[in-house]
Amino acid sequence: MRFCRFESADGPRYGLVEALGGKDAITHIIPSPFGEPWPTERQKLDNFPVKKCELLVPVRPSKIVCVGRSYREHAAELGNPVPTEPLLFLKPPSSLLSNCQPIRLPAIAERVDYEGELGVVIGRVCRKLRDDEDVRSFVRGYTVVNDVTARDLQNKDGQWTRAKGFDSFCPVGPFVTDEIDPWAGVAVETRVDGELKQQGNTRDFIFPLDVIIRYISRVMTLFPGDLISTGTPPGVGPLRAGNTVEVTVEGIGTLQNPVVAE
Ligand code: MG
Repeated sequence: MRFCRFESADGPRYGLVEALGGKDAITHIIPSPFGEPWPTERQKLDNFPVKKCELLVPVRPSKIVCVGRSYREHAAELGNPVPTEPLLFLKPPSSLLSNCQPIRLPAIAERVDYEGELGVVIGRVCRKLRDDEDVRSFVRGYTVVNDVTARDLQNKDGQWTRAKGFDSFCPVGPFVTDEIDPWAGVAVETRVDGELKQQGNTRDFIFPLDVIIRYISRVMTLFPGDLISTGTPPGVGPLRAGNTVEVTVEGIGTLQNPVVAE
């Protein structure tokens, strides 16, 4: 199942997305996909084409939990050691941004980087998972995240709240899907103005997703709709006003955002 959130004539709704004749269409309106048990009713729409620039952020997380340095090569490119356990930080929900909306470069930041990442969307309350519990049953699906980062402020502050937390620094979307398998490996790519900048695969994670989700659940309760951003592959670099940045995760789609000066 693949879904989006969009602005309907009756306000924001979740929509089931299906490929019809090679084009994505919203075929049904569905209740919040974060209810428990997961709702199954749906209201048919007549082949409603997906206008990707009218999509909303597809999740409403209570928190965005991010993993730093998930790939060996990315740790190395910033001169950091390979971590021996997952490194966590948070982004505020106020930083969320939908597909096509502009990333705003803060005047006080000298260097703002893209970080293309796979996002994991939690489907049911997840707390203190045991070693033998099936992590996949807590996952509603997967999406695309750009963990935008003010690199100079990250280095200056010594902790990451400001560098990662500006409004517009967490583009997410356009869809959530449960039809991919990150354990088997999905490609994560970032392009700036069409030029390939990052290329990674989730099979190269230092810590597999089940280790990451279990680890987070033993620190904080995860709620339906919460978002985990799983870390970025090598190739990070700066964004400038006028750029368009695209993050593509294989099997999900492309998240595209223009960049503007604040
Ligand atoms: Mg990151």
